[in-house]
Amino acid sequence: MAVCPTDCFYKTEDGVVLHDKDKCIGCGYCFYACPFGAPQFPNGPAAFGARGKMDKCTFCAGGPEETNSAAEYEKYGSNRLAQGKLPLCAEMCSTKALLAGDANVVADIFRERVLRRGTGAEVWGWDAAYGGGERKREREHKREGQS
Ligand code: SF4
Ligand code: SF4
Repeated sequence: MAVCPTDCFYKTEDGVVLHDKDKCIGCGYCFYACPFGAPQFPNGPAAFGARGKMDKCTFCAGGPEETNSAAEYEKYGSNRLAQGKLPLCAEMCSTKALLAGDANVVADIFRERVLRRGTGAEVWGWDAAYGGGERKREREHKREGQS
């Protein structure tokens, strides 16, 4: 937020960080500054400058336009939070890996999962997801080569 020369970013009452595409000059500073890679240049035809105005996840909370207006939808997609819904990705996630809502409730759900399922390599599927399986195959391959 601090790097933006045109002060595009703001925070809603719910703590969601949003940006104003009308103010964005496409300088790209936020693209390099954000440790989470949230701001991304759109792929479509550039509306401004060479790369266009910056885009980012809105947490499905719209933008500065009138809530649930056509203008808001066109620039920022559905304002699902204003409709009393969860962000679409959290709603659609089949394993509920993505959660959204009150931070304390989300933290409790994750705490309960850790207590029930454990952490790190003891969790089922950890190797497949994080490469432990690959290392195991390499070790087996080496062992086979030695015999
Ligand atoms: S690309 Fe846009 S939102 Fe990002 S820092 Fe520059 S003016 Fe601000
Ligand atoms: S669906 Fe998820 S990733 Fe996409 S804007 Fe909504 S909250 Fe962000």
